[in-house]
Amino acid sequence: MQVEPFTFNPFMTNCFLCHDQGEAVLIDASCDTEAECVEVMDVIKEHGLDLCHLLLTHAHVDHIFGCRFFEEQFGQRFKAHEAAVPFIERADEQATAFGVEVESPSVPTTLLAEGDTISFGDVTLEILHTPGHSPDSISFVHRPSRQAVTGDVLFQNSIGRTQGLPETSRTQLLNSITEKLLPLGDDFAIYSGHGPATTIGRERTQNPFVQEAIGK
Ligand SMILES: [Zn+2]
Ligand SMILES: [Zn+2]
Repeated sequence: MQVEPFTFNPFMTNCFLCHDQGEAVLIDASCDTEAECVEVMDVIKEHGLDLCHLLLTHAHVDHIFGCRFFEEQFGQRFKAHEAAVPFIERADEQATAFGVEVESPSVPTTLLAEGDTISFGDVTLEILHTPGHSPDSISFVHRPSRQAVTGDVLFQNSIGRTQGLPETSRTQLLNSITEKLLPLGDDFAIYSGHGPATTIGRERTQNPFVQEAIGK
């Protein structure tokens, strides 16, 4: 599985185009301007990709700015965890709280839960429910290539924010990291919602929040 990362909008939110054998999924349409949306479209066209699924790690406003654009381009809705639904329904309120504007995405009709899978090309992504930063946080895991797109759960040297946001739980977040992500293995590449890609091994040994959680 090839992962093409992009970083968009004033919150510097990552968007990932994952592809294999000419088929692709788009994870987190964080593109805010038309130019940012076109940047993703250009890569889709350049590789001649069929876009199979539109996916969200969670529905915080910084991850959904470009959802409408891609829904219209590809005639499909984003798939997300069921707990994303109220966040999407309140997208305007989320935007106002952060002083930005958003075109609300459609409410998802296909909901993803722990253990579900998403397929494209020869890839099957496994869904892990990794709440704490938000109740709807899910991670997309590809075990054969040792890669996971995890949203705002684990960052290089940091973890997802659990203050000043609704329905967060630091305890739940740390449990998601120690019980769901760390067992993936040290060699796993982690594509986070913000900042550079990292690995489980790096964060297990160097991330102070992870170190504290595992009692090192
Ligand atoms: Zn978030
Ligand atoms: Zn974010």
